[in-house]
Amino acid sequence: MAGGVKESVFVPSGRKVITVVGRLGDEFIDPDKPYCSCSNFFFRVLGGREETCYHLLSYRMATETGKLDVVKFSDEEYGAYLAATVRDVFEVIRKSAS
Ligand SMILES: [Zn+2]
Repeated sequence: MAGGVKESVFVPSGRKVITVVGRLGDEFIDPDKPYCSCSNFFFRVLGGREETCYHLLSYRMATETGKLDVVKFSDEEYGAYLAATVRDVFEVIRKSAS
């Protein structure tokens, strides 16, 4: 389970995009909000039935154990990176909905 959390940091702005590798593919999380792109978060956490989802838990564990995989990118790459990440996330949503 460790090693599945990736924090992409964009320099020099310091913008961060955090993704967690899940069962179906990458999920996009924002631990500060908190937010996760998975359907479990959407239905159970926002529905008040659970406090958090697997991906946000994985992130917390990764930061606590120092297993967070930090990758640096330049700000020029942000648009392309985000487009690729969003495409992956929608792919996961499509697969989990079918
Ligand atoms: Zn999740």
